[in-house]
Amino acid sequence: MSILLGCIADDFTGAADLANTLTRQGMATVVLLGVPRDDLAVPDADTVVIALKSRSIAAPDAVRLSLAALAWLERAGARQLYFKYCSTFDSTDAGNIGPVAEALLAALGADFTVVCPAFPTNRRTIYQGHLFVGDVLLSDSSMRHHPLTPMTDASLVRVLARQSKGRVALIAYDTVQQGSAAVRDAMEKMRADGVRLAIVDALTNAHLVAIGEACAELKLLTGGSGLALGLPENFRRAGLLKTKAAGVLPSIDGYAAVLAGSCSAATQRQVDDMKRHCESFEIDPIELRSRNDVVPQILRWARPRLGERPLLIYSTADPPSVEKAQAALGREQAGHLVEQAMGTIAKELVATGVRRLVVAGGETSGAVVTALGVEGLRVGEEIDPGVPWTMSLGTPRLALALKSGNFGTDDFFLKAFEKLETADVRR
Ligand code: ADP
Repeated sequence: MSILLGCIADDFTGAADLANTLTRQGMATVVLLGVPRDDLAVPDADTVVIALKSRSIAAPDAVRLSLAALAWLERAGARQLYFKYCSTFDSTDAGNIGPVAEALLAALGADFTVVCPAFPTNRRTIYQGHLFVGDVLLSDSSMRHHPLTPMTDASLVRVLARQSKGRVALIAYDTVQQGSAAVRDAMEKMRADGVRLAIVDALTNAHLVAIGEACAELKLLTGGSGLALGLPENFRRAGLLKTKAAGVLPSIDGYAAVLAGSCSAATQRQVDDMKRHCESFEIDPIELRSRNDVVPQILRWARPRLGERPLLIYSTADPPSVEKAQAALGREQAGHLVEQAMGTIAKELVATGVRRLVVAGGETSGAVVTALGVEGLRVGEEIDPGVPWTMSLGTPRLALALKSGNFGTDDFFLKAFEKLETADVRR
């Protein structure tokens, strides 16, 4: 197998998001969950996205995993590498975006890369180095309450500088709007000046395509899924990419469930909406520690209810409730308990015949897919920007939609299952 683009994503929903972008632009894309074992049978593809669960772990561990993924992708023939993180730049002063980007650069023998989480389709834009979510600064958005990576500074130059060793600078809007040649010139000048990481402004998809074009010769790019928009065309222009149609999956029948572990504002609305359409069970993280029969109780509740309609199981809660759980359990322990419970519940539900599963939350998706032992995904139809249906490699075949917490419209969960029923994903 020889791939064109090798991608490393710092969480599982981010990997699905990036794979969705590349698939829609005509690259045959496979997502592999975790650093793949050497003898894993991987379907032929133009690009492989290795999904790690490295966003919220200790920086040295994130670096080690990312370098292992890089080594696999280089063995698979990748000509260019892409490090994908969240469009809201989820990180802390300890990392992990800066440390991982710098370690990948060093391993590739490169000295410069771009840093661009913009995703205008989902209203994440960067202006003068400041990240906006819709019409507010990142630090004024609901991301300031994130359970694991609260974002309280919208200046990406400042945020990245605090977690990096090398120099950080900005390629600003006035350059970006002049197009790819101007961006390329700015990059060359910065590199000569000793800048290692350049935040790049982007307000529109056209900006992202121009930046992507300017980066055609860079060994490593880093960004959200948006920056990947222009990359398939680079390979096509160079005569390397043949694939045109990608992203049709066979139908999968079976019971359906939603597992929501994200506490993001969008997921809170989606859970409220879904509660009106199906039966639901709320997980309280404090109970997970004080009682050891919570998961069995949920399974006893769920089994007789599996049928035509999906079931909803959620720990999604508003900021005061998350604070209360974290005060009682500690931030990490609260997250860990919920993730572990979600993983066990997913495994048991699949053993009972669930085959269509929507998971809300990046860390939550990582925990669920790991517990299920799923090693890879093929990418299918898009449900909402950044969230495709996928199908697991291996058996049993599962239809999985891994949704980043803040993505999707309020009726996302119902819409997802309706999409599975439509003719063009059935073969
Ligand atoms: P998102 O995609 O919104 O970032 P994640 O799943 O990545 O969602 O992160 C949410 C984190 O919050 C997970 O670690 C999850 O286990 C944890 N969590 C979920 N529900 C609660 C809760 N009620 N209280 C505290 N933490 C929670």
